Formats: sequence, structure tokens, C-alpha cells
Amino acid sequence: MDKESAPGQQHATREQHSEGLNEWKQRPPYKIHEDNDKFDVKYEANCHCGKVRYQLSRSEPLDSKLCHCTTCQTQHAAPFQWAAIFHKDDINFSHGHHDLEWYDPTDKSVEHKLPCKVRCSFCHSPIMDEGRNMILLFPSLVHLKTDEDKARFKPRCHMFYGQRVMDIPDGLPKWTGIDNESELIEDSPPEQVRELQRKREKERNEKKEQEQKEES
Ligand SMILES: [Zn+2]
Ligand SMILES: [Zn+2]
Repeated sequence: MDKESAPGQQHATREQHSEGLNEWKQRPPYKIHEDNDKFDVKYEANCHCGKVRYQLSRSEPLDSKLCHCTTCQTQHAAPFQWAAIFHKDDINFSHGHHDLEWYDPTDKSVEHKLPCKVRCSFCHSPIMDEGRNMILLFPSLVHLKTDEDKARFKPRCHMFYGQRVMDIPDGLPKWTGIDNESELIEDSPPEQVRELQRKREKERNEKKEQEQKEES
């Protein structure tokens, strides 16, 4: 009896396992939209070889940044990386979502763990960084046809500028590390630098007041 039930159980386990492997395909950003989903296509994009193609339904990224961190330098084999931030629901892979490969730079693992890098498994073009809640797309893959489209994707700040290999004196805000959580340096807009100083000062005072309250 035991001998007969064992293979069945094994089979069930294997099925569950493969379901687990495919589960990511049902979720954004990899969820395939059906024709009747009315996915409003604003942009189209593809990797270098064209096996991976996607569409975007949002006309303006939530943010657009240049990252100078050493991980981006190595992963993109470039002095810095350009990324535009979107919600996971804003993307629809029309081709090749089976032709993707993942890399988690923290654990140096190729399993699909967040946050991770996503590439075309054929030409290895970087497609996006998949975070826990957002995706960071690489605008170089997006077909930006008009000047308005290009203006919407234009970088708005530099981050990890402390790790840069070259200066970019373009007047944009330059953060030493993560934007809004580090310091503004070099030719960052002076008004924004003063505003940040005021904000930090206010936070310090509030913290001090809170500590005094707790002591008394
Ligand atoms: Zn490709
Ligand atoms: Zn980076």
C-alpha cells in the first residue's frame, strides 16, 4: 500500500514544484495581457536581438535617473546606467518573456529573487531591474519617437555620484548615494541644496524635541 502511494505523492510534489516555477508568469511585470485587457500602448521597446519585446501603458516614467554605482558600471559595462521607473502593471511583454534570465547582484545568484537584474537570455541586453514594488527600465530600449517623449524620459538626477568615473556638469541634482537619502554634491542646483539642508535641520530638531519629551 505504501509502495503504491509513494509514486503518486512524488508526482504531486513535482507538479507543485513546476507550478511554483511558472507562478511568476501570472504576476506583473510578467503577466501576459490578453487582447481584451485593453492594454493602452504608449511605447514599444525591444532588446538588441528583438527576441524580447514589450509595451508600456504609462506616458511618463515615475522617475528617470542616472546611476553611477560600481554594480551598474560592471553590470552595464558602462560609466553609468540610465533607468526609468515604472509600476509593474505598466509593462506588457508581447514577445519573449520566456527568453529572460535573472541575476541577483546581492547574492550573485541566477534565481528569480527580488531585487534582480533581468536580461534577454539570447543577446544578454539588460531589460530591467525588477524591484519588490517597481521596475527600473532602460530607456535605451524604448522607441522614443517625438521630442516630447524624449523630454518625458530625460534623466532628472544622478545617484551614487560619489562612485562616478567621470564628471557630468549638467546642473542636475547629484546624490552621493541613493537619491533623497544621501548628500547633494558638485553642481547640484543651489536652491535644492538649501532646501535639503532646511529639511534635515527640521528633522534633527524634531528628533531632539521628541527625545526631550521622552526624557521629561
Ligand atoms: Zn535579445
Ligand atoms: Zn547603480
